[in-house]
Amino acid sequence: MQLLPLLRSLAARPVTERLPRPPGVRGGARFPGSVQLRHVDAGSCNGCELEIASAFGPVYDAARFGARLVASPRHADGVLVTGVVTRNMAIPLEKTLDAVPRPRVVVACGDCALGGGPFAAGYGVADSAGALAAPDVAIPGCPPGPVAITQALRTLTGR
Ligand code: SF4
Repeated sequence: MQLLPLLRSLAARPVTERLPRPPGVRGGARFPGSVQLRHVDAGSCNGCELEIASAFGPVYDAARFGARLVASPRHADGVLVTGVVTRNMAIPLEKTLDAVPRPRVVVACGDCALGGGPFAAGYGVADSAGALAAPDVAIPGCPPGPVAITQALRTLTGR
């Protein structure tokens, strides 16, 4: 009885979106082939996290372009930061950035991580200018969509 759905799923087209190669990706990649990133939520509303989860899910599948999220900054080439950088996350973020071996890359995902967003003037927001003043990769948006996130990460891997 379960055979028909199984055969249908085998014959179905993959759900993964085909994404065009972003212009200028080949040759300019800082981590050609693959990049491992430690994600730090430095005080986001979780909107950016939902989009990151979607970017690494089966439809957009950022991993097929060599981008991976890892559990430790010691295993990472860089940090993927979301959120405004709250007072209680400023030191953990700094420690995470320090723990990543050089050369490292800092990816700021979302308007909050880029110094703006709806919470920029909040009382609990730390001065994030030191950590994220000049991210290597900026992904604007509130939140940026999974296509924008995936395409931005491809600029690091060149794939
Ligand atoms: S940029 Fe928007 S979606 Fe992302 S953490 Fe800030 S408020 Fe939330």
